[in-house]
Amino acid sequence: MGEKFKSKSWLIGVFAAIIMLSIGWYLVDRMEGKIPSVAVNPSIVSLGRSQKVNFTVSDAKSGVRKIEIGIVQGEKENTLFDKSFSSRGFGRGGDHKREIIDLLIEPEKLGLAEGRAVLRITAWDHSLRGWWKGNKTQVEKPLMVDFKPPRTEVLTTMHNVNQGGTGLVIYKLSETCSRDGVMVGEHFYPGHSGLFDDDGIHAAFFALEHTQGPETKLVVLSTDRAGNTSRTGFPNAIRRKAFKKDSLPISDGFLDGKMPEFKLDAPENKPLTNLEKYLIVNRDVRKENFKEIVRVTAETENTLYWEGDFLRLPNSAPRAGFADFREYFYNGAKIDEQTHMGVDLASLQQSPVPAANAGKVVFTDNLGIYGNSVLLDHGFGLFSMYSHLSHISVDPGQMVARGEVVGKTGTTGLAGGDHLHFSILVHDTFVNPIEWWDAHWIRDNITAKIREVKSVLNENAGEASSGEEAGR
Ligand SMILES: [Zn+2]
Repeated sequence: MGEKFKSKSWLIGVFAAIIMLSIGWYLVDRMEGKIPSVAVNPSIVSLGRSQKVNFTVSDAKSGVRKIEIGIVQGEKENTLFDKSFSSRGFGRGGDHKREIIDLLIEPEKLGLAEGRAVLRITAWDHSLRGWWKGNKTQVEKPLMVDFKPPRTEVLTTMHNVNQGGTGLVIYKLSETCSRDGVMVGEHFYPGHSGLFDDDGIHAAFFALEHTQGPETKLVVLSTDRAGNTSRTGFPNAIRRKAFKKDSLPISDGFLDGKMPEFKLDAPENKPLTNLEKYLIVNRDVRKENFKEIVRVTAETENTLYWEGDFLRLPNSAPRAGFADFREYFYNGAKIDEQTHMGVDLASLQQSPVPAANAGKVVFTDNLGIYGNSVLLDHGFGLFSMYSHLSHISVDPGQMVARGEVVGKTGTTGLAGGDHLHFSILVHDTFVNPIEWWDAHWIRDNITAKIREVKSVLNENAGEASSGEEAGR
C-alpha cells in the first residue's frame, strides 16, 4: 500500500512541477517588459493650417494593444486617433506587431489657437504587466501652432536683370524658414545665410534664363516650418537681349575624327552610322551631361570665395557666344538645332587655363560633349566651368586662387578645333559670362548692393546702441 501511495505522490510531484514550469514559462513570456516603439515622421516642431504626419507604432514581442493620438492645448484635448487591437484569445498576446497611421492634422478644424500645443502619442502592448494593461509608451512632442506666413523684407532696392543674366536679392526673414529663395517664373533659386552676421538675412543669386523675357515674374518665396508661405515682390527691370543665330556644317572629316571618342550602345547586327551617332551625342548625351552638371551644382558653399571681376582666357578670340542658336547642317540639309550655353574662346593650342576667380574645385572629369571639364564653386550657387581641356591640373576639393591654372585648352568632347568652352552657372542655370567679366557690372549689381545692405544694417545697429546709451 505504502509503495503504491509513494509512486502516486511521485507522479503528482512531477505533474505539479510540469504545471509550475509551464505557468512560469507562460508568465515570463506574457510579462515581457519591452515597451512599444513610436516613430513620428516628419519630426514636426510647428503646425500650420494642414500637416500630414505619419506615425509608426510597433511592438515585436506581445503585439500592439491600443494606440491613442491626441493634441493637447491648455485644458483642451483633441483625440485624433484611438484604436484597439485584439489578442489571439484570453490571456494570450496579439498578432498586430506594427501599425502605420497617416493623419492629416488641421488645427483650425480642431479649434486650436495659435501658440503652444503638445502632440501626444500613447501606445500599449499585450504584455500582462501594469496589472494587465500592458507596457505603455508615451511620446509628447511640444509644437507651435502657427498660421502666419513669414514676413520677408527685401533689403536690396533695385534689380536690373538681363535676359540670360544674373541677379542678386538680399532679404530678411521674420522667422526660421524651411525653404526660401527667389522664384523666377517657375524656376526656384535658393537663398542662403552666411553673407551677413544676422542668420535671418539671406542672399539669393538668381538667373534669368535666356528664354525668359521681361514678362517674367520675380518674387521672394519663403515657407516657414509650419508650411505657411509668403510671396514678396521686389522692384525689378528685365532687359531683353538678342541672341545670335549660327549655322554649323558637320563634315565627314569631323565625324570620322570625333565619333570614335564616344562609346554608344548599339545592336551588333546594326551598327550606328557616324551621323546617327552624332545626333545621339548632340541630343541625348548633351541632356545626360546637363543632368550631371545639375547634380554637381546642387550643393554649394555659403562662402563668397570670389573677389573682383572674373578672368577671361588671356589673348583669346571669341569663336561663339552665349545662347547662340545653332543649326547643324550635313551635306546641305539641316539635321539638328541646339543652344550654345557658354562662350568659346580660342588662343594658342594647349594654352594654360586660369581659374576665372577663387573657388573650390567640385568636378574634374570627362563630361561627354564637354570633354575633359573642370567646375569651380565660387560660393552661394555661383559656378564656373572649363571644357574641352587637353589636360586637367587640379583635383576635386582643392581650393584655387584667381588666375591659378586649372588645365590646358584642347579638343576633347564635341570640339572641332582647340578652344576653351567657358560657362558660368547660377545654381543649375547657365548665365552670360560677359557680365562676370565686367568689373562695372559686378560693382553695380553685386558688390555695391552687398555693401549698401551692410551699411544700412550698421547704421541701424549704431542707432540701436546709441539709443540704449541715451536711455541709461
Ligand atoms: Zn562651346
